[in-house]
Amino acid sequence: MAQPAREETINEVKEVFRIYLKENKHRITPERFMVLEEIYRADGHFDADDMYFRMKNSGSRVSRATVYNKLDLLVECGLVQKQQFGGNQSYYERGYSFQQHDHIICDECGAVLEFCDPRIHEIKMLMERLHDFKITGHSLHFFGHCNSPENCTRKSELNQKIRRATAERK
Ligand SMILES: [Zn+2]
Ligand SMILES: [Zn+2]
Repeated sequence: MAQPAREETINEVKEVFRIYLKENKHRITPERFMVLEEIYRADGHFDADDMYFRMKNSGSRVSRATVYNKLDLLVECGLVQKQQFGGNQSYYERGYSFQQHDHIICDECGAVLEFCDPRIHEIKMLMERLHDFKITGHSLHFFGHCNSPENCTRKSELNQKIRRATAERK
């Protein structure tokens, strides 16, 4: 789950993406691979702006529009998953070779926790049997709030905004 991808996973993912671009007659550009690599080296969930600033901070000159655009392409080919944790903001995470997991989301501070429970897989198999259906995906989000006020403040969101503003001025 939330740990950086291994080198071999990154190489595998690049190969999958290369084939996808070729088959769909998209141009193979270094920027496309940069976005992909950045995502697989990142932890957990991020929005498009997070990715943009991350890339900018590591010296890349890609535009915001390019990042949005590339993310859509990566979602399309299944290497990246798009998630909505309440609200309108879309979050992204790696979609290839990562353990299937579900999310617990704090409405107050926006924290996203991941969990993996084998019983969900059992429910899936049971539903397939009961409804004579092939399930190819699922999404499960639990919403609520952190119990401890110290761990849950809107501060984290504010800090993020400040960090972004500072990065933008550079
Ligand atoms: Zn996740
Ligand atoms: Zn919270």
